Formats: sequence, structure tokens, C-alpha cells
Amino acid sequence: MPLPRRICAPALLLLMCCVLSPPLPLQAAQMNQAEAAERVLAALDKDGREVVVALHRTLAAIPSSGPESGGPGESKKAAAVLAWLRELGLGDVQRVDLPDARVPSGVRPNFALVLPGRDTSRTLWIISHLDTVPPGDRKAWTGDPYTLRVQGDLMYGRGAEDDHQGIVSGLLLARALVGTRLVPPLNLGLLFVSDEEVDDTGINHVLKTRPDLLRPTDLILIPDGGTPDARTVILSEKKLLWLKFTVLGKQGHGSEPDKAVNTLTAAADLIMRLRGLYNDFPAQDPKFDPPASTFEATKLAAGVESVNMIPGQTVFYMDMRLLPTVPASAVRERVRQQADAVEHESGVRVRVEVESDSVSAPETPADAEVALRLFRAIRAEYGVEPTARGMGGRTFASDLRAHGLPCAVWMTATGTWHQPDERSSISNNLRDARVVTRMLFEAGTPRR
Ligand SMILES: [Zn+2]
Repeated sequence: MPLPRRICAPALLLLMCCVLSPPLPLQAAQMNQAEAAERVLAALDKDGREVVVALHRTLAAIPSSGPESGGPGESKKAAAVLAWLRELGLGDVQRVDLPDARVPSGVRPNFALVLPGRDTSRTLWIISHLDTVPPGDRKAWTGDPYTLRVQGDLMYGRGAEDDHQGIVSGLLLARALVGTRLVPPLNLGLLFVSDEEVDDTGINHVLKTRPDLLRPTDLILIPDGGTPDARTVILSEKKLLWLKFTVLGKQGHGSEPDKAVNTLTAAADLIMRLRGLYNDFPAQDPKFDPPASTFEATKLAAGVESVNMIPGQTVFYMDMRLLPTVPASAVRERVRQQADAVEHESGVRVRVEVESDSVSAPETPADAEVALRLFRAIRAEYGVEPTARGMGGRTFASDLRAHGLPCAVWMTATGTWHQPDERSSISNNLRDARVVTRMLFEAGTPRR
């Protein structure tokens, strides 16, 4: 572009300032941001351990499994979290409850708290879930699953890691922001949802009824999976496909196979043929462990009661986990071909039904801002190189990704979720909060 022939003096001065002076205001802003982050980190460290244990003790004492397992739902746990927030002066939450007549309160609670940042158009969200799985075999536990037991750095109790740790790390950061009276560069959002362990109805209710709440430009972290070394950042999931097979033949006496059509042997034949799916869909992706899709026969429904009966009906199930690049329709087509072959050969009928399937969701790109900020924060906090991974299990991250919301699943985990003696490390809770602080303030200074 040609220069104007004449530049007035003030404009020239301004131009010289821009060209010659170092960008002082920006540097100062960055320095303030780093200092602010250090103050929040110091606040987290100050009395963090006591707060972590007190919060975990409260949460552990409140059963919150869903009605499918005879549990009461999440309302009492939600009330405890809300009471804690109110004490901090953070009572202004947005409720997105889902009616559910199966639980005593009649609702499955979901609620969001937003602490405003300087830029209120974007939010760093921590989404945690309020439900837990039931304790399972209580004899396998060393103590009562609903009474927090603290041994050194470890806290034992049902839900300690899955997902009380996720709840607590968010609460810790909110408390530190209130205590330091610091306004972060962007909003901090805490979203608490119900029913993660069974059906994801909580997050899907939020996505449906409050589509404005989570925005594609937001940064979304789901602290609900990870590894002890803090390096694993989960950015994609395999697609889950559960199929139910009903093999129908003709019941008969064990001594008269010629008068019967044996569905157990036909089912066994089909199960062995379906092992061939591993060869039919051999694609590999090293982000996942195992790197290929999996196709496993799992549950067998009870058959005939007597040894001398040839069964006329056999029901079995398969659990399939497909890489994001493997189309479920192609897998189902191949399954049907094998079922047709068994029908033809054994004279049975095979009904194939979808028992459960997850949405097909794109991966969160490794250069999405949430991933980049998280990588930098992990490097700064832990001094380790993070790795982008995929997982075979399912979280509601896929539901968010299917809605065009990039997100990362990450926490520093002991990996004891759903197990007897489930535990969470006090340090992990604090360091997760520190990592999110670094993401929020983009403070990259390594920990001394
Ligand atoms: Zn979980």
C-alpha cells in the first residue's frame, strides 16, 4: 500500500511509538497474569490438604448411585456441594435438573457455576459427575466404602477418584479465586452433572435444554480419566457397540438331536465366526490401547436347566469398541452376513439387536486450544511431556464432541475407579487444581 504523502505530527508520533517502543502494556499484563497465577497456586497450597480431606469426607458419606442399582440418585450430594459453595458466597448457580420419578427427590440434579473472568465471552469449564457406581462386594473392601479412610496421602472410599476428585479440584480452584479476589483472564465454569455411570442423561439434558451454556470456543476439561504420571490426555474414544444375539431353534431331549435344532452349538459357531471381525477390521491407531478395534463375546443368558435338554433358544451378547475410523454400519453388515451363514448351516434363526451404542464423535484435535493449554500446564506443573491418547472406555466427552464441543479428559489418577478400596491421592487433587489454574491463567513457569 502506498504511503500517504503527508503524515500529521500526532499520527507520526503514534506511528513511531508503535514501531520503536517495546510493547510495554502487553508485557505488564502478562507479568500480572503470571503473578496472579502464582498467588492462586500459593493459596491452593496454603491449607489445601485439609480442605481436600474435609470435602472428600463429606462427599464419601453420601451414596449417590443411580436407581438402576437401587441407589438414591445424586440430590443429597448436590445439596452438599451447593451448601459448600453458598458458604463461599457462591450461591448463584444455574440449575438444569432432569425430572426422574425413580429417585426420592424426583430429580437428577445438574447445575453450573460461572466465576466471571476479564473476558466474559469464554469459559474454562470443569465438568465433573455427582453419581458413583455402587460399592460392589463389600467384603472386598478394607473398610466401610462410605466412611472416608485416610492413610498417608491416600483417601479411600467409593467415588474418591470417580468422580469426587474431579468435583474437589474444581471446588478448590473456585475457593482459591474467591480467597485471593483475583479475576482470571477468562471465566471459570464448574458444571456438575448426574448419571454419568449409567446413561449420561445428565450431560445430554444440559446439552438439549441449555445449548447456550457450553460454547465451541470454550475450553472444556473433564477430570474423569488419566494415569498416575499425569501424562495421559484423552482426546478421543472408541465407539461403543453392544449387540444382543438371540439364536432360535427347537428344544428337544439330549438323546434325540435329530428331532431338535441345537441353538447352543449354533451360537458357539457364530461366536467363533465373529472372531473373524478382528481380521475384517484390522485398522490400528497407536493412540489407543489396544490399538485396534475389539470384538468380544461377553454375556451369555441362562439357557436350559437340565443336562439332558437341547436348548431351543440361546442368547448372548458382544461388546465391540470401534476405532473412530471404523464405520459401525460396515461392522453390523458383516455381523449379519455371519449370522446368515449360521442360519443356513444350522437351521436356526438369528436375531441381532443393538443393546447399546454410543454416538459417533470426532476426535478433539491435538492442536485444539484446550489441548494445547493443558499440555503446557502439565509440562509446567509436572515437568513431563504429555501424550494425546484415545480410550476404549466411554465418557460423556463423546457426547460433547458430537455436539461440536472440543474437550479433553484428564486427571492425575491412581486408576482405582469402580474397584473395592477405590482411592484418591490428596496430592493429585491439589495438583489437578494447580494444572487447571495454569490453564486458566496460562502461566507456564515450571514448578520449583
Ligand atoms: Zn467417572
